[in-house]
Amino acid sequence: MKTYIVGNWKLNFTVGEASIYLHKLLKKIPNYRDIEVVVAPSALALQSLSLQIDRHKMKLAAQNAFYRDFGAFTGEISFSQLRGLVDYAIIGHSERRYIFKEDDKMVAKKVAAAIRNKITPILCIGETESERAFGETSDVIRDQLMGGLSEIGDDDVDKVIIAYEPVWAISSTKAAKIASPDEIADSVKIIRRNLEEIYGKKVASEISVLFGGSVNSSNAGAYLTVPGVNGLLIGGSSLILSEFSDIIEVAKRVQA
Ligand code: PEP
Repeated sequence: MKTYIVGNWKLNFTVGEASIYLHKLLKKIPNYRDIEVVVAPSALALQSLSLQIDRHKMKLAAQNAFYRDFGAFTGEISFSQLRGLVDYAIIGHSERRYIFKEDDKMVAKKVAAAIRNKITPILCIGETESERAFGETSDVIRDQLMGGLSEIGDDDVDKVIIAYEPVWAISSTKAAKIASPDEIADSVKIIRRNLEEIYGKKVASEISVLFGGSVNSSNAGAYLTVPGVNGLLIGGSSLILSEFSDIIEVAKRVQA
């Protein structure tokens, strides 16, 4: 199984800065066939970066898109417009859920739109600090997971990547905490158990589950060895070239 190392650049880097970063990253990293390196720049940079990228070494992801393919939706970008530019799309990131009020219904439509347009959805799920404190973690995981997958057919479920990102562990969250490998292992078990209940053992074992939350080159090795974790979704550390490339090297070492 491939290991995914996905960098979410969020609202950072101009188009020029993104291009320079990508140029340096492409020079720095070898072509590791079993490691899928993905970066998610701002939508504005996708067109030019898609011409610059070496797809053997890495792929592009969108950070978001709208679920309708075309029409009167001022300001939106559709998955059909992204088709051919990106291989992946991050969907349901906690910043989309909590700042832009996206609910599971909206997330589900976006997952379906991505699949319809041959883009692999990276469906983000995870509980907030207070949900965890109230013992609601497994309910939130189940609701967001099943909610997010609810608009696609059973045959398409194995085309989705799940990113478990506890909101309290994301570095931009106020007073973010570091998730322990045991906490992540428990949540990943819940994810796979739910998948197994609804879609069967094969799908549950074949789906890739990533972890995201304050990952850096020092803790990446510990997170990548959590049972059931197939990769990392990285925010802050993906903006620092040396950190991001070191994490890729860590992933290679863990795989060896
Ligand atoms: C994220 O926002 O998806 C994320 C994982 O961010 P960070 O790595 O900065 O915690």
